[in-house]
Amino acid sequence: SLRVRGLRKTFGDLVALDDVSLDVERGTTTVLLGPSGSGKSTLLRCLNLLEQPDAGTIDLGDGPIEVGGKLPARTVRAIRSRSTMVFQQFNLFPHLTALGNVTLAPMENRGLDRAAAEARGRELLGKVGLAEKSDAYPDRLSGGQQQRVAIARALAMDPDFLLFDEPTSALDPELAAEVVAVLADLASEHRTLVVVTHSLAFAQRVADRVVFLEDGKILQDGTPEEFFSSTDERLRRFREVIS
Ligand code: ATP
Ligand code: MG
Repeated sequence: SLRVRGLRKTFGDLVALDDVSLDVERGTTTVLLGPSGSGKSTLLRCLNLLEQPDAGTIDLGDGPIEVGGKLPARTVRAIRSRSTMVFQQFNLFPHLTALGNVTLAPMENRGLDRAAAEARGRELLGKVGLAEKSDAYPDRLSGGQQQRVAIARALAMDPDFLLFDEPTSALDPELAAEVVAVLADLASEHRTLVVVTHSLAFAQRVADRVVFLEDGKILQDGTPEEFFSSTDERLRRFREVIS
């Protein structure tokens, strides 16, 4: 599991994360909701140290690691190697095929030989429904297909945690549905997912926990039932505006 304590991140005078503490249990799906600017992306990026927190600790099961301030490269690598981020814009390498995108990091960073990386890459592309597209370049794939390649690429690193920042918000509804189906499939296999989304339907259907952020603070952390039945005025307003 992942335990975050007292995470703080400022940009100049702006407090983007204010003393955020969060537990993510292994095998569960946590959905991060909240208004624009509430700190969802910043939180996700801090979990992966793509953003340097000002203060706080992250515990990946081996004891809390102080993540505030300048960190040794070794610490950054240790934390980063445990999770993989999937972005709103799929960020595929345009000069590599779907299979090439999925096999690059395992070969470069994990020392897999090409045959092993390709065998695993084909298996993962099959898993996201793209067995037929292994040799296609990104510009020949739909947005939903590109995002599924990005998910296969993330899975190829065998991360303990998969972090998704609005993985469907750049997609038309029917393409988004394909990606949601892949996420639901990963959730049902009890992978550990943290998903930022504006989709209440996704939260309702897939989340084990819903964490609601506002102004860099966690306003509510509980089951989807608790989120959807909360009578807190701010949550009610959010539910109305978004649906
Ligand atoms: P959205 O739903 O619009 O994606 P969000 O909840 O992901 O919003 P963040 O991107 O985490 O919000 O931003 C939180 C706050 O931090 C915002 O006020 C934002 O303007 C600010 N912020 C984020 N990144 C930076 C940065 N690199 N430099 C300065 N301010 C930033
Ligand atoms: Mg964001």
